Amino acid sequence: MPQTHTTRTQVERENRMLLALQVAGCTAIAIIWSMEWWNGDLSPWDRWAYPALMVIQGGCAALLTWWPHRAEWARVMAVLALKGYLVIALNQALFASPFQPYQLVTTLFWLPLGYGTAFVFLNLRAALLSSAALYLATYGTVLWNLTWGEPPPWPDYVRPMMSNLAIAQIVYVIVLLAISQLKASYTRSQATVEVMRQMAATDPLTGLLNRRAMADHLAANHALVLRGTQPMSVILLDADHFKHINDRRGHATGDRVLMKLSSLLRSQLRTSDRLARWGGEEFLVMVPATGLEASCELAERIRRAVATADWEPGLGVTISLGVAECRSHDTVDSLMARVDRALYAAKSAGRDRVCAEESDEPAEALSPSASSG
Ligand code: GH3
Ligand code: MG
Ligand code: MG
Repeated sequence: MPQTHTTRTQVERENRMLLALQVAGCTAIAIIWSMEWWNGDLSPWDRWAYPALMVIQGGCAALLTWWPHRAEWARVMAVLALKGYLVIALNQALFASPFQPYQLVTTLFWLPLGYGTAFVFLNLRAALLSSAALYLATYGTVLWNLTWGEPPPWPDYVRPMMSNLAIAQIVYVIVLLAISQLKASYTRSQATVEVMRQMAATDPLTGLLNRRAMADHLAANHALVLRGTQPMSVILLDADHFKHINDRRGHATGDRVLMKLSSLLRSQLRTSDRLARWGGEEFLVMVPATGLEASCELAERIRRAVATADWEPGLGVTISLGVAECRSHDTVDSLMARVDRALYAAKSAGRDRVCAEESDEPAEALSPSASSG
C-alpha cells in the first residue's frame, strides 16, 4: 500500500527491505526456536507458532519475489502475521496457567517490531489502524482481566510493568508517527528532485535531451571508446536557411518545424542512439557501437527522410549533416571540432547533404542531391 507520493523506486526499495527483514526474521526465529528447545524453555504455543510464522513470512517473501504485482498483499500479510503472533504470545504468557515470566519478557522484547514494521511497510492509515488493534488486543485484555475478571496470579512486579509498557507503547507509536511524516516529506522531495532532474536534462520545446545531458552521454561513451570496448560516431545536423523560415512564416512556424524535425529524427534512430537539441536549429546524434561508414549511411537516411517529409505547403525543409567517428586519440572536444568542420563542409558544398569528417569521405559520394546539383 504505497503512499500517495511514494515513487516506484521507493516501493521497490521497501519491498527489498521487507524481503531482507523476512530472511533475517526467519533466521532469528529458527535460532530462538532451537535455543529454547535445547534449554527446555520452548512453550507448547511457540513449538507450533514459530514454524507457522516462518512459513507465513517465507510465503510472503515468495510472493514478493515471484509476484511483485501482489507485493501489497505480502506487506499486509507479513505485518498482520507478526502482530497476530505477538498478541497471542503475550496473552498466553500472561493468562495461561501457570504464569510464564520468561515467555512474557521475551515476547515484550519483540512487541515494538509489531508497531515498527507497520509504519515502515503499510500506509499511514493502515499502520495506525493495525497499531491501535495491536494495542487494544494486548492491553485491552490485561485491563479487562484486572477490572472485571479473576485477578491473575501474577507476581507483584507485573502490574506496574504492564502499566509502564502501556505508556511506553503510546510514546513509541507517537515517535513512529513522526518518523512516518519525515518519510512522507522525504518521498515528496525525492519526487520533486526526479522531476527537476528530468527538466534539467530535457529541451522544453522538443522534449529531446539538451546539450548538458548529451555531454554526459558523450563523456560516458567516449570512455568506452578509449577502453577499446566499442566504436562511436556522432552526427551533427543543422536546418538549412532556417532564418528564412522564421522571417517568412514567423517564429511559431519555426518552432513547429523544429518539433516535427525532432520527431522525424527520432523515428530514424535505434533505441541505443542518443539524440539531443545541441543549439537553436542544430541537433546532435550520438551513434554508439557504429563506425564511420554505417553512420554516414544513417545520416543519409535521415537527410532523405527530412527532405521528402510532408512539410506545410510551400515550406521545403532540408538539413545538412556532418559525421565523425571517435578515434583513439580523440577527446570529446576534438571529436566535436571535427564533426563541426564536417557540418561546415556540408554547408559550404551547397547544403542538403552529408559530409564525413576530413576529406576522405566527400559529401558528393554520399548525397545523391549533391551529385544532381
Ligand atoms: P544555415 O543554412 O547556414 O544554417 O542558415 P540558417 O538561417 O539556418 O542559420 P542562422 O544561424 O543564420 O539562423 C538560425 C536561426 O534559427 C536564427 C534563430 O532565430 C533561429 N532559431 C534558433 N532557435 C530557435 C527556436 O527555438 N525557434 C525558432 N523558431 N527559431 C529559432
Ligand atoms: Mg541553420
Ligand atoms: Mg545553426
